[in-house]
Amino acid sequence: MNNKTNSKFNLIQVNTVLEHESIKPYYKILSRPIIADIIRDTLEKLRHDLNNKDNSKSPLSKEEIIKLCEKNIKSKSNSPIKRVINATGTIMHTNLGRSPIDSEIWDEVKDLNIHSNNLEYNLNKEGRGLRGEFLYSLLAKLTGAEDSLVVNNNAAAVFLILKTFAAGKEVIVSRGEQVQIGGGFRIPDILREAGANLVEIGTTNIATIKDYEEAITENTAMILKVHSSNFRIRGFVKYPSLKNIRDAIPKNIPIVYDEGAGIFDESLSEEEHIKSALKSGVDLVCFSGDKMFSSVQAGVIVGKKEYISKIYKHPLMRAFRCGKTVLSILEKYAIKRLNSTEQFKGYCERLLSIKPEIVKEKALKIIENLENIKGFKVIEETIETGGGAMADIFFPSYAISFKPKDIKQAVKFLHNLEIPIIPKVKKDSILLYVITIDDNDIDYIKESLNKVVQSNLL
Ligand SMILES: *Cc1c(COP(=O)(O)O)cnc(C)c1O
Repeated sequence: MNNKTNSKFNLIQVNTVLEHESIKPYYKILSRPIIADIIRDTLEKLRHDLNNKDNSKSPLSKEEIIKLCEKNIKSKSNSPIKRVINATGTIMHTNLGRSPIDSEIWDEVKDLNIHSNNLEYNLNKEGRGLRGEFLYSLLAKLTGAEDSLVVNNNAAAVFLILKTFAAGKEVIVSRGEQVQIGGGFRIPDILREAGANLVEIGTTNIATIKDYEEAITENTAMILKVHSSNFRIRGFVKYPSLKNIRDAIPKNIPIVYDEGAGIFDESLSEEEHIKSALKSGVDLVCFSGDKMFSSVQAGVIVGKKEYISKIYKHPLMRAFRCGKTVLSILEKYAIKRLNSTEQFKGYCERLLSIKPEIVKEKALKIIENLENIKGFKVIEETIETGGGAMADIFFPSYAISFKPKDIKQAVKFLHNLEIPIIPKVKKDSILLYVITIDDNDIDYIKESLNKVVQSNLL
């Protein structure tokens, strides 16, 4: 012990606070050593303050010190990943974990995940098996492809495809498709990292078959088509269809389509989707597992067997492969989707199919005791899918709106609830979009809004 801690400023032992009954419940949330650090920092700061304030303030009592430590610990307890309620009006919010995993599927995969399983063991041949083999056949069946492959995310899928076929070679990409997706996934950068040379064709808004044809050299590895994902160009825009490109380009040059969102068919969008791209003769299509596909973070590659098996054999496949949890969830999801007699709906698809009137009813139910009190009301507001799907398309919906005295404080209040509620701020109003609020959470939202009313925030 140094002199300082032996001095009159020896406030309280770290261990005394750490073992206090009010602190113990936080072990599970933050871990004991992290809590010990917070206590140590708190005590250090108190000591420092005492040293510098020549006793003008009376020192805190032990109880007050423990309370202060608890306050500091509590303020960190929102740091671990935890459940939140998405009321932002963006259905698949990338910051909020994109598509939630189907709870039935989650239950189904628990047993095999908490026990040993046949991830890479072939029970029919009594020996080593191929990881994901059965899943790959399911995903191929689902999309109408010859074969499929799964990696950690779609960014990895694009990278691995480029690495396998285009290292040291040329990749033709239209200027309108050199996009950035989310934080830092830039098509030109990914190409460079994969050692491929970007050959730009066309302009931002126009690309023609002739542009593609003229760009082909003996060094062309592939044509890469990228879905613009999170933006949309309107007006004088012209791109050839995938089919027109496939028909015009020599068959030995693969066409790869980074579809992104995981949209299967025309029920959701008139744009090129996975099935139409494959039907057009596109050789490989890749997409995210947790956007419209509604399963789990993964990158799915579907397409021609000869190309898929080349990717499968690339040494980097070992670095990008998924584990049992992801693969088992995807497998159950694919089975569920293949078995559904009526058209299966993923999370986002299901929510979008709910009539706005039903959403309005839910919103009114939530504020039934608050309506016209303190400015709570239900207003018409549009929602979007998020997750890089259907950019710039807004669907009619409803939100609960109220005007707090101080927006920042009200947001903080919502964020610090037991299950944090993530609202959207619009000018001086807080909006809670109802579409993503589960029926089972209606009572919780009601209680929370009552707390808002009682907390002098309005
Ligand atoms: C979302 C998206 C990606 C990145 O996918 P992740 O699964 O987030 O890695 C790549 N390309 C397109 C077109 C996308 O929409």
